[in-house]
Amino acid sequence: MSAVAPVAIGIDIGATKIAVGLISPSGAITHRKETPSKGNSSEGLATDLANLIREVVHGEEISSVGIGSAGPIDVQRGTISPVNIPIWRDFPVVELVRDITKIKKVSLLGDVVALVYGEFKLGAARNKLNILGLVVSTGIGGGLILNGEVYNGSTWNGGYIGHTLIGGSDKKCFCGGVGCIEAIASGPSMTKWAKDNGLPISNDAKFEDVAKAALEGNAIAIEAIRLGAQAIGIAAANASAFLDLDAVILGGGVSESGEIFWKPLQEAFAQSKAHNKFLKVQEISSCDLGKDAGLIGAALHGMI
Ligand SMILES: [Zn+2]
Repeated sequence: MSAVAPVAIGIDIGATKIAVGLISPSGAITHRKETPSKGNSSEGLATDLANLIREVVHGEEISSVGIGSAGPIDVQRGTISPVNIPIWRDFPVVELVRDITKIKKVSLLGDVVALVYGEFKLGAARNKLNILGLVVSTGIGGGLILNGEVYNGSTWNGGYIGHTLIGGSDKKCFCGGVGCIEAIASGPSMTKWAKDNGLPISNDAKFEDVAKAALEGNAIAIEAIRLGAQAIGIAAANASAFLDLDAVILGGGVSESGEIFWKPLQEAFAQSKAHNKFLKVQEISSCDLGKDAGLIGAALHGMI
């Protein structure tokens, strides 16, 4: 009799790439493939998913499938409408994956929730119960684990911290709001602030260019990143107090810029939560599982 435990398929659907992996119950990735997201057709997404799944499955016994996707998502209908890929609207990803795999047990999570779940089970938030996860890159995403379980909220948008307000900013956000933390602290928002305030960078400059200038000592770049980090630190402290969290983790491209981002982030977080002495969470942690945290988290959640 075979003693090999069944594995799960993990799927991570983002604005830049789609990744599919075979994940063991212990969270190990045995096969993994990815392809750039093609935002020009829904058929492209369907074909890519079918191809990637075919490439990673080699006759293994599959227990379940877990999907983590850029949101908004609708878990009840099993659909996704990633905000950064306008052509994918109400895309029936759960039904499609059931058709491709013939597996009934398919779960759907928001991408940041999937990441937080991975870090909760195996990474930076192991042994914690109440966790906020943040992903800071082209946008700011959030996801929550409360009392050891994924918190979806009423419309599966729980943890939607990027478009909450911390006050003191008149920055217009693409969502229609004014002063959202995403309008202050996403990679493109910090880059725009730096350019508007005199950093000599091109119109298509990226956050990496600002980070590089900051590392070289440019005061405008340092201030752009400090203001963004401060906004995130305040928002994370607000969430920590409001929900009595015991962990905050942060990932995404911006988090890879090192101390120029992390130092002002931790300072703002510590200062903003200092008066709430009950809080167990001491600092914001970086993710442990790297770029596949969401893939692993989605698969592990699918196994429940
Ligand atoms: Zn907004």
